[in-house]
Amino acid sequence: MQFSEVSKKFMEMETTTKRLELTSILGSLLDGAGDDLKELVYLIQGKLAPDYEGIEFGISGKLIVKSLANASGQTEEEVNKLFSKNGDLGTTAAELRENIRQAPLVSEDLTLHYVYTKLLDLANSSGPGSVKGKMDIYSDLFMNSKPDDIKYITRIIMGKLRLGVADSTILDSLVSAFSEKKYAEIIDTAYNFHPDIGLIATLLEKRDIKTIENIGPEPLVPFKVMLAERLKSIDDIREKMNHMVAYEYKYDGLRTELHKKGDKIKIFSRGLEETTDNFPDIVSNFKKNYNFDSIIIDGESVPYNPETGELFPFQMVSKRRGRKYGLDEKSLEIPLVMFIFDILELNGKSLVNTPYQERRKILEENFKDNEYFRLATRLVSDDSEEINKFFEKSIEDGCEGVVAKNTSSESVYRAGARGWLWIKFKRDYQKELADSMDLVVIGAFNGHGRRAGAYGALLMASYNEETQEYESFTKLGTGFSDEVLFSLPKMFSELKEDHKPAMVNSKMIPDVWFYPQIVMEIQGAEITVSPIHTCAYSKIEKDSGLALRFPRLVKIRDDKKAEDATTTNEIIELYKMQKKTK
Ligand code: ATP
Repeated sequence: MQFSEVSKKFMEMETTTKRLELTSILGSLLDGAGDDLKELVYLIQGKLAPDYEGIEFGISGKLIVKSLANASGQTEEEVNKLFSKNGDLGTTAAELRENIRQAPLVSEDLTLHYVYTKLLDLANSSGPGSVKGKMDIYSDLFMNSKPDDIKYITRIIMGKLRLGVADSTILDSLVSAFSEKKYAEIIDTAYNFHPDIGLIATLLEKRDIKTIENIGPEPLVPFKVMLAERLKSIDDIREKMNHMVAYEYKYDGLRTELHKKGDKIKIFSRGLEETTDNFPDIVSNFKKNYNFDSIIIDGESVPYNPETGELFPFQMVSKRRGRKYGLDEKSLEIPLVMFIFDILELNGKSLVNTPYQERRKILEENFKDNEYFRLATRLVSDDSEEINKFFEKSIEDGCEGVVAKNTSSESVYRAGARGWLWIKFKRDYQKELADSMDLVVIGAFNGHGRRAGAYGALLMASYNEETQEYESFTKLGTGFSDEVLFSLPKMFSELKEDHKPAMVNSKMIPDVWFYPQIVMEIQGAEITVSPIHTCAYSKIEKDSGLALRFPRLVKIRDDKKAEDATTTNEIIELYKMQKKTK
């Protein structure tokens, strides 16, 4: 496949404001990929491999500017000037390529495979001389490209290719192109246990549904964690789960996947990033105390006071969250304990279809509590009074409440799913509006008066998993400190869009649109029916959506991606819960 075909489709995807058009362009692009399919799906994501493989380009914007200056015969100052005007290095590179008017050095068009290979070389170049090596590869790509090609190549290198297609959108398109709807669930499950879109694409292209069916948890490959639904009361939970329930403490820490295979141990975050280096204490303790050939466990790591055993708020170790933060000595001073609540694999055997009660038994047989590893405290009971006491005790012990787990034989481990096999229950749920929400910023309204130069309000959206659209839900203008408020224009400067992005569904038109990327935790007073917002449109009332009244910023959730935001279905559930309290 020629790279110019890819650039052409990328441009079409970028300019459309309609979601259906976006998926149809994506479909035609995938259709024409042939043997290049795997490389293509990574490039559509602006990547060379799944995130957990940790492949990074390792070249800064400054070095790209330098390379552009060298290759185009301009000064760095001139290139920077152009960059300031465009606000985007991709467009800058394209303009410079256009201006030098020299035909690409090679007479044939660049192929996708050539670009992918060169980008991989660029990323893999390391050690002494690697800076020059990376710059040379980039300059070579520049000279061999047409303007539109170098635009997208540059954006990919800078991590700024924003086409608005999440993995789930690509998966749907792959199913339409190479498989049948009846396999969609199998394919989804496989992806949730092995979130490598390239692997799934290759298998689908070969029509190898058998191999896809057999994909399960694999030690050292992160899986998408199972999530919980919410209910309003313990009695509702008992009823929903047919009185077959175990209650576990809901720890407020960092979700932690620990994998071991042979003598390798890896830790992954909920966002599927490898964070092993942030947990040297946990890793060395695991190595010392346990001897499994292979294992995958799921749990929550919580900071605590070793003198008293008291649990601390997770903010104290938030630096351990993502790789980008790095770790200093100080962050290691606060010890962590991993509360284990699930097991997915043991010594080569998958346990995801083994019922929860048996999985717990396996955990109990294999783990004795120690300083670094403990099993989640739990109660199996159907006695209201006993359960309520357990709930109160969980709060007293520094937890957020409980997670109820279905104890029937149906209670499998469902990767990546928010379902009714796990139901969370927090103290807040007794209030009218039960919970805070994590919403995505899709636009902003200009500020006036004291807020001149900043934003007066942000337009916030929920994520509709079914349509894969962001649906407007509230206008947020409260809860910002001045410091946060005045830092917003810079935070969003690179996310500005000159039209409504195709995956945004909004009737309200803000002064400026943003590419949906930043997630904020919001607390509101009430969810109401509203004709203005598109969240759950016509789901509760015809020609109306749902809106959040009196929203207030709690915090910016830099650990969540836009697709991890509160879903429209969760908002419908919250609305129903609120109605029940009234
Ligand atoms: P929140 O922002 O409230 O944590 P969330 O979407 O991150 O929301 P929830 O679905 O609310 O996660 O709650 C489930 C989370 O609770 C899990 O992701 C996990 O990190 C944490 N947790 C703590 N203890 C347990 C437990 N015993 N079983 C399952 N999850 C637990």
